[in-house]
Amino acid sequence: GGSMEIYERLKELIEEKGLNCQVNLEKEEEGNHIGLKKSGCHGFCEMGPLLRIEPAKLLYLKVSLDDCEEIVEKSIVKDEVIDRLIYSRDGITYPVQEEIPFYKNQERIVLEDCGQIDAESIEEYIAYGGYSSLEKCLFDITPDDIVKTIYDSNLRGRGGGGFPAGRKWTQVKSQKDPIKYVVCNGDEGDPGAFMDRSIMEGDPHKMLEGMMIAGYAAGAKEGYIYVRAEYPLAVQRLDKAITDCRKYGILGKNILGTGFDFDIHIVKGAGAFVCGEGSALTTSIEGDRGMPRVKPPRTVEHGLFGKPTLLNNVETFANVPIIIKNGADWYKGIGPEKSPGTKAFALTGNIVNTGLIEVPMGTTLRHIIFDVGGGVRGGKKFKAVQIGGPSGACLTEEHLDLPLDFDSLKKAGAMIGSGGLVVMDEDTCMVEVARFFMNFTQNESCGKCVPCREGTRRMLEILEKIVAGKGEMSDLDMLEELSDTITSTALCGLGKTAANPVVSTLKYFRDEYIEHIQDKH
Ligand code: SF4
Repeated sequence: GGSMEIYERLKELIEEKGLNCQVNLEKEEEGNHIGLKKSGCHGFCEMGPLLRIEPAKLLYLKVSLDDCEEIVEKSIVKDEVIDRLIYSRDGITYPVQEEIPFYKNQERIVLEDCGQIDAESIEEYIAYGGYSSLEKCLFDITPDDIVKTIYDSNLRGRGGGGFPAGRKWTQVKSQKDPIKYVVCNGDEGDPGAFMDRSIMEGDPHKMLEGMMIAGYAAGAKEGYIYVRAEYPLAVQRLDKAITDCRKYGILGKNILGTGFDFDIHIVKGAGAFVCGEGSALTTSIEGDRGMPRVKPPRTVEHGLFGKPTLLNNVETFANVPIIIKNGADWYKGIGPEKSPGTKAFALTGNIVNTGLIEVPMGTTLRHIIFDVGGGVRGGKKFKAVQIGGPSGACLTEEHLDLPLDFDSLKKAGAMIGSGGLVVMDEDTCMVEVARFFMNFTQNESCGKCVPCREGTRRMLEILEKIVAGKGEMSDLDMLEELSDTITSTALCGLGKTAANPVVSTLKYFRDEYIEHIQDKH
């Protein structure tokens, strides 16, 4: 978005004006200085490039190269506010970042430091309290207590299904095999989702700390991060973070003199959506083609290299140090007791504030779309939201007051998935939406099992026919029959959920399908 050029220009201007520009916090210098740093994502993507000025907590929006000189002159040298760069809504201006409705209506726990700290500085992470939870685990509590804390917290996996993390950790810990692995799923493939990317890019140590705690608790000595090669900045920052941890003795042999050995490796995935599935992911790390296998045995018993494996996603691991620090009861106090904590969502589509948000589980769609997201773009009417990407479903106006948590969404026939929220306005054709997602799933089907390989192909052909105005009423019955068959017989989650966008649009927007068929458009 041009942020790097703005960073370079600001650095140049600060130096030109004889101000001491300190860009490397490791080498603290004497005297007055202006600290200038690159942060991770602030979440307010719609308004980028963003510039935060401390200690005033000013947030400047849509900053351009032409604004840099004025920013240094007025806001850095003289503490003045440049009105045209601050957020305003309904005639009210919000200079302070935390007061902007987009931020004020969120509860940022996992993303708390994203956009605040220098993601490439381990020193800054430590200065913000980082690695204190690991220290607590290594010196003050036993591995049994760590697993119990995660179990009692009711933390549920943020990767899609919402499986209780504590149960998974207990199962891996109880395996007798002396070799176990911790694997982090950073293979975020849903169209419109970028939560894990922002954590890896903006606060990579938080996730690493969660993995190390998991390794210590479960008795593993090695961890792997499976991250998409399409996320080069995430790979670069994780790599730097791991190198710094080794330098400080936080990773490697005999960590902090405790006798605990643990190291983490990065494996880049080539971008296959199916590699988000546990067994396909571990197979891909092993160097084979990423394809799911029949279960059981499950990953907790027979995962990476045939060994017991604790597999969670980026956001789940990033929650771990926070839970260890504050306790299970504190965590359970946020959101519904059975789905506690917060959830990061990527808010995209026809919404005013496109961006990355974090709210307590159980928050309503209405709050997310209208209070945080600022409503539907162009003042248009809200029509639907696709939640959970291609595995998820469409929710409509009648669901606006539904609490977003694992159990409520399941009852409504939807799923949180990894957290993509694509908002659609009154002009959106829902048959086209179903076709778009089916096209994606069909392309990503690994082809191992017939129902998914052939079934999604047939469904896509029918949807293309209907969109082209060549459909027949009997096509709707066939779509429903295929949906039932694929859902009940496909091998893995990709196939089992592939029909969800079609099922939900047929349920809530059947008239649009009929209109396409009858009007032949
Ligand atoms: Fe592959 Fe689809 Fe079968 Fe999963 S359901 S194994 S993606 S063909």
